[in-house]
Amino acid sequence: MGEAERGEAAPRKAVTYFCAREHRSVVTFAVEATAPDSWDCPKCGLPASLDCDNPPPAPKIEPYKTHLAYVKERRTDAEAEVILDEAIQLLRSRRKSGDIIF
Ligand SMILES: [Zn+2]
Repeated sequence: MGEAERGEAAPRKAVTYFCAREHRSVVTFAVEATAPDSWDCPKCGLPASLDCDNPPPAPKIEPYKTHLAYVKERRTDAEAEVILDEAIQLLRSRRKSGDIIF
């Protein structure tokens, strides 16, 4: 190494992490500490790993969807119609019985 011993209280080691966006982040740890297998990339926040050839995949970020889009995803149109129909029937019967007044 060739570096003179400077008598630091806590000798440190540098560990390099790699994220899916090809950032290299050098994190220093106390020599006696065990470096974790993964570390959040300080540049982009994605998980980063010690393996430069195999960084952890970026988590999928779902675009914002409306509630209706989620409902449509889970149900077919026919099912949605049945559910809507049931809801209308219920609403009508409750309105008739005076539960709902409008
Ligand atoms: Zn990154």
